[in-house]
Amino acid sequence: MKTYLRILQYVKPYTKRIVITFFVMIITAILTALSFYIIKPVIDKILANPDKQEAMKYITILPVAIIIVYALKGIFMFIQHYLINWTGNRVILDIRYKLYCHITDLSMRFFNNQKIGTLISRITNDVNSLHGALSNVLGNIISAVLNILGLVIMMFYLNWKLALIAIFVFPIAVYPIVQFGKRMKLAAIGLQQKMGDITSVLNESFNGIRVVKAFGMEEYERKRFNSDLWNFFVYDMKAVRAVAMASPIMETIGAIGIAAIVLLAGKAVIAGTLTTGTFFAFIAAITGLYPQAKKLNDMNNTIQVALASAERVFQILDEKPEIVDLPDSIEKNDFNDKIEFKNVVFSYNKDEKVLKDVSFRILKGQVFAAIGPSGAGKTTIADLLARFYDVDAGEILIDGINIKKIKISSLRKLIGIVTQETILFNDTIKNNIAYGNPDIDETKVIEAAKAANAHNFIIKQLDGYNTFIGDRGVKLSGGQRQRIAIARAILRNPPILILDEATSSLDSESEILVQEAINNLMKNRTTFVIAHRLSTVRNADYIIVIEKGKIVEEGTHSSLYQNNGLYRKLYDMQFKLDEKKNI
Ligand code: ADP
Repeated sequence: MKTYLRILQYVKPYTKRIVITFFVMIITAILTALSFYIIKPVIDKILANPDKQEAMKYITILPVAIIIVYALKGIFMFIQHYLINWTGNRVILDIRYKLYCHITDLSMRFFNNQKIGTLISRITNDVNSLHGALSNVLGNIISAVLNILGLVIMMFYLNWKLALIAIFVFPIAVYPIVQFGKRMKLAAIGLQQKMGDITSVLNESFNGIRVVKAFGMEEYERKRFNSDLWNFFVYDMKAVRAVAMASPIMETIGAIGIAAIVLLAGKAVIAGTLTTGTFFAFIAAITGLYPQAKKLNDMNNTIQVALASAERVFQILDEKPEIVDLPDSIEKNDFNDKIEFKNVVFSYNKDEKVLKDVSFRILKGQVFAAIGPSGAGKTTIADLLARFYDVDAGEILIDGINIKKIKISSLRKLIGIVTQETILFNDTIKNNIAYGNPDIDETKVIEAAKAANAHNFIIKQLDGYNTFIGDRGVKLSGGQRQRIAIARAILRNPPILILDEATSSLDSESEILVQEAINNLMKNRTTFVIAHRLSTVRNADYIIVIEKGKIVEEGTHSSLYQNNGLYRKLYDMQFKLDEKKNI
């Protein structure tokens, strides 16, 4: 019920339309009852009328009346259907958009713990089945109830005793409705979960198709996918059983009602206390009544499925974004002095500290390098500076202001991030470079591309800057993708740059071009670089060496080298590797 009330909140903005729809439904219900009632005069006034002259009169009037009643019923049914689905679809649009906005607002920690496929499944499949609940409740249930009401009133009007008998069978039909509803809900929960698994495998394997192929894991992935498909099949069949059983049971109950009426009303007709017309109109009304009850049952099933989905959608909407602007947070549009980490402690999971008491200071204009073994915590430091996560203890200051007090949007504008995995979108090269600056003019884009050593290869593409680069940039080489990402950062022109240097080996020509582009990007900026290259390390103004979440050494290249500690070890190791590479 709570879930229902919550869904209805999204319907609220469309109350006016719903009220109109309701009136249309009442008219349709009246016309439906009338379309059954009309059988009575057809039989009594024409077929069984001893007064032939009167019968001739009716034989011209009634067919016209029949056409009018059915045509009007048709028109109002169309309007009703259209209005119901308009509201349903509109509400779905709202929920999907709200869900997407909410998810994009959630913190990195949320995404770490979620499968992307599952999230996609929430926005597509779950919201889809929610649509079922909306249009069913809004429309079909109310309209079925109104139709039932119309028919029942008509039946009482025709003959109240017979009506009572027909109605008596009705509550018996309610029991299976409730039972099948319960079964459907259980099956639906399973079904949606399994669909989430399926989407997840698809997402993982298609995204990682390169790895799948390289490791010859096609067969393994197929098995994984097949097993998910089978799980889905099993739950689907459970749902099918519930649906398939509902129909025959409901019909049998309906038949009992009809049989009782035939028996009792038939006797009354023979005894002459009931007209033949009333008898047929009555039977017609009952045959019209039970399908409506069956409809209620079917809708109950759809609704149970939808409620299961709605609960999962709301579960995501209830997730609170971890990183939010404080009420008194400020805009900060420039960087003037220094970045400071003061006794920063951080953990992804409560049990393991990833950073333990990290303090350092980056002065404006410096190239500040962090080096250390893999898993030491370098990327984490960069992510904390961009406030993808909040520190557990200690503070991070920019120009003496705690970054928690700076508006997130304004903080992220101060910082540009170029990472090893370049994220490009399936759009034109121009739009990929201009990502984050949609209104920028083309000459600036070209300027940035030139500085990033990307212009020459871009103009060689089929449509130059307007070439589509394919999903995640698959149509470009690794080095080209990186240079586009660098052009994007140059265009954005942030005063602070976080640079996670590429370790993946590019061919030497590509590497020179990328390195040149990076040098251009670093000009006139303050750079925090997660350094892998000897050249960067050697030229950095200041270096921190991180091991297991702690700064174990710090200083300039020469002082650290003389120290003969971890830095020297790592440096010598790299040097040897590079020598090998150059042979
Ligand atoms: P580095 O950049 O120095 O290689 P990271 O900062 O990426 O190291 O990782 C530091 C530690 O934090 C590692 O032990 C890693 O396993 C862990 N870690 C990194 N990212 C996450 C995450 N999203 N969730 C949980 N643990 C993480």
